[in-house]
Amino acid sequence: MDLYSLTLTDIAKKIKDKEVSIKEVLDSVYSRIEEVEPKVDAYITLTQSQAYERAEKLQQKLDNNEDIGILGGVPIAIKDNICTKGVKTTCASRMLENYTPIYDATVIKKLEDAGAIVIGKTNMDEFAMGSSTETSYIKKTKNPWDLTRVPGGSSGGSAAVVSSDMAFAALGSDTGGSIRQPASYCSVVGLKPTYGLISRFGLIAFASSLDQIGPFTKTVEDAALMLNVISGHDKMDTTSANLEKVDYLKAIVNDVKGKVIGIPTDFITDGINKDVREAYDKAIDTLKNVGAKIQEIKLEYAKYSLATYYIIATAEASSNLGRYDGIRYGYRAKDFEDLDDLYYKSRTEGFGAEVKRRIMLGTYVLSSGYYDAYYKRAQQVRTLIIENFKEAFKLCDSILIPTAPNTAFKFGEKSENPLEMYLEDIYTVPVNIAGLPAISIPGGFDSENMPIGIQFIANSFEEEKLLNIAYTFEQNTDYYKNKPNI
Ligand code: GLN
Repeated sequence: MDLYSLTLTDIAKKIKDKEVSIKEVLDSVYSRIEEVEPKVDAYITLTQSQAYERAEKLQQKLDNNEDIGILGGVPIAIKDNICTKGVKTTCASRMLENYTPIYDATVIKKLEDAGAIVIGKTNMDEFAMGSSTETSYIKKTKNPWDLTRVPGGSSGGSAAVVSSDMAFAALGSDTGGSIRQPASYCSVVGLKPTYGLISRFGLIAFASSLDQIGPFTKTVEDAALMLNVISGHDKMDTTSANLEKVDYLKAIVNDVKGKVIGIPTDFITDGINKDVREAYDKAIDTLKNVGAKIQEIKLEYAKYSLATYYIIATAEASSNLGRYDGIRYGYRAKDFEDLDDLYYKSRTEGFGAEVKRRIMLGTYVLSSGYYDAYYKRAQQVRTLIIENFKEAFKLCDSILIPTAPNTAFKFGEKSENPLEMYLEDIYTVPVNIAGLPAISIPGGFDSENMPIGIQFIANSFEEEKLLNIAYTFEQNTDYYKNKPNI
């Protein structure tokens, strides 16, 4: 078996046991990248020279029998909206095409403290706005399962590299589904942790009350391992929760007997692909067969999540993206007449169409005449959705819903109609609105052999429960063992 195809857990162990050298592992992954990347186009930047330098240092430590950390020597990819010191962080935007941060995001520090090696930065929708990675200014990432289809988004690059064995794990960000939906389209595990569990320091902001960093992995156990490394309080992020550190690997137990799984029958309605529906029903049966109890629940306000999300997210984006003015950093237009013209031209030329659409929508819902009708109302509905989940979790341990209503679509199929694209987020956005943790794991394949993801949701900071249930489902199915033929 080629080294690149191993799981995160297995490769970390092989390195620690000195069965393989760190250089061999890097060689394996970079040669895999050389072979597959020309077809998939998932990386924006590769960081070979830094990676090999780090590998040498780590190997020396290991040879001296020093501790190199739980991810010692393991290659990891990073979404290009997470700041990496000295390495370009573009947000897949012309605006930041040449931006090189002078600091590392907290998650990068934590990964490196645990011995991981950053091997490259992955493609995404521009500023994480999109569901297909098509809004990237840099390139179009293809779905490794079918190169004529999108990998999902916005973290499409991260999902694609894990799915095609071009990294053992990757980080993404999830504001309205950007980890879970591409994970589902590419048949990998994608975890969106509770808001506040992972520091957002160094994550380039899209919608600050919704954004959260999380891992893409090949297995649920690997997701627990990543969470052990990246979670924890950070004084650099005021929304970071100050809780006792948990060992998430303890939750990796194949047993859900007596656990109650909530099925929101009023939320899973007609607009869902037939094969996805079938996979979902089958998932319910699988859980029943391993001893879980199935409980019908109601989430009556969840159907307003999409409208609420596209008001709150755009409002926050319009404010967050105000900083790109062509003066301080980022793209600056060449010819301009005065200051206003400089702002105008820099933003006109630096941002793509989807980002502009969000800024305009957000500015509109925050404008004095419409604030009460849209923004304030959306915040009120947000509270109702949160209350809905609170009530639901009195009846169940975890809620099961599909990750997305469809499987990966073809390039261009939805990019002409933003509303159709937004509809792909219907099952992912309620989780961000309520700040909850959720995981997408492989749950089947459609009639064209495209992956289907299923999603478990848990109450705030109940990642252990989430991982336990997801792991049990995974271990009692075979979907995660299938790999794209690339
Ligand atoms: N697809 C959603 C959007 O376009 C979610 C994006 C995200 O989670 N970053 O806003």
